[in-house]
Amino acid sequence: MNRSIELENRYCARNYDPLPVVLKSGKGVWLWGVDGKRYLDMMSAYSAVSFGHSHPALVAALTAQAQQLAVTSRAYHTDQLGPFLQLLCETTGQPKALPMNTGAEAVETALKAARKWGYKVKGIANGCAEIIVCNGNFAGRTTTIVGFSSEAQYRDGFGPFAPGFVSVPFGDAAALEAAITPRTAAFLVEPIQGEAGIIVPPAGYLAQCRAICTRRNVLLICDEVQTGLGRTGRLLACEHEAVKPDGLILGKALGGGLLPLSAFLAREDVMGVFNPGDHGSTFGGNPLATAVGSAALRLLHDERLAERAQLLGKRLMDGLRAIVHPAIREVRGKGLLIGLELEPEVISARAFCEHLMRHGILSKDTHATVVRFAPPLIITEAEIDAALAIIGAVFDTLPMARRSSEDRIAA
Ligand SMILES: *Cc1c(COP(=O)(O)O)cnc(C)c1O
Repeated sequence: MNRSIELENRYCARNYDPLPVVLKSGKGVWLWGVDGKRYLDMMSAYSAVSFGHSHPALVAALTAQAQQLAVTSRAYHTDQLGPFLQLLCETTGQPKALPMNTGAEAVETALKAARKWGYKVKGIANGCAEIIVCNGNFAGRTTTIVGFSSEAQYRDGFGPFAPGFVSVPFGDAAALEAAITPRTAAFLVEPIQGEAGIIVPPAGYLAQCRAICTRRNVLLICDEVQTGLGRTGRLLACEHEAVKPDGLILGKALGGGLLPLSAFLAREDVMGVFNPGDHGSTFGGNPLATAVGSAALRLLHDERLAERAQLLGKRLMDGLRAIVHPAIREVRGKGLLIGLELEPEVISARAFCEHLMRHGILSKDTHATVVRFAPPLIITEAEIDAALAIIGAVFDTLPMARRSSEDRIAA
């Protein structure tokens, strides 16, 4: 076995089950293994690498800032944080922002803000605030967040969990309305559920949720850690339905694919609940990350990456839908966030990803049946077409018919 894999297996916690490839370099949409083999990255580190690997403008911002000033804590002001937050707020149309590092931390920040807003502004009795979430949600891995997951494995063995969460079916606005009580502070929702398997809700869902939340004085908080920053063909996935949330969570691509950077953004009265000492993070808003974040936001705008995601996403989606094979159950998504659901009777998503890897494409299964296609937004038409040719060729190697149970036992 490869030495790097052996060392990881010996020393690393087994909390992941990576594909058997050892990467050593990346440039744009391409990754190279230690054996020199080249792969097209169709996963982008779960959408964190939207700008491609080592984008020159981002690496330049990173290295220049690293030599200038990297980490100060927020005990002091820096010349990077203010301009970054201005750009972030102006880009997203939110008045206030609170910088953190990982997506989960920004979600935790949103939960704290929502609860405190519930008590201080809405007037919910202390300790009684409820937050409504959706079945199938993914918002990170902290104990509070996995406590409101509907995924048994994410929760198993990690309780007891924080109370105060109510779960409703995703895509069902009437269920949201029915779940709201005078104690409801917020509704936390992903415009498209990423980890659940690229689940796109019915058209009009988010706009209906917006109207309900406004009418019932409940905060609409959109978790756009994965769908935000151009991924779905708009700067924010909320914009597909002209929805402006009261709170917005960004992460992943915000750090330019170079380092962790996340943020919770919100209305004045929501962010206004935080006073000095209420909340914080040693690394949150550090000058190194925010310099890269500013460069990433400029790049997103200058290279019109959301528009590219829309155009190229359509090309990829149309191409995938043109592949006819009994192993394909559904192709769905928006922009360059696409899920290919397979017929598990024919092949598992994991086995399909291993086939793709051998043919030079890296992707990852989500749940047992969905293969994710979410390449860097800088991918070209020619690269999409090359990927489609390979994906088609992999389907050609699969059996055309469902295997009978006898075949499966024989295999
Ligand atoms: C990835 C993700 C998170 C968590 O981000 P981390 O940086 O892994 O903590 C939260 N919400 C959504 C929708 C995500 O896809």
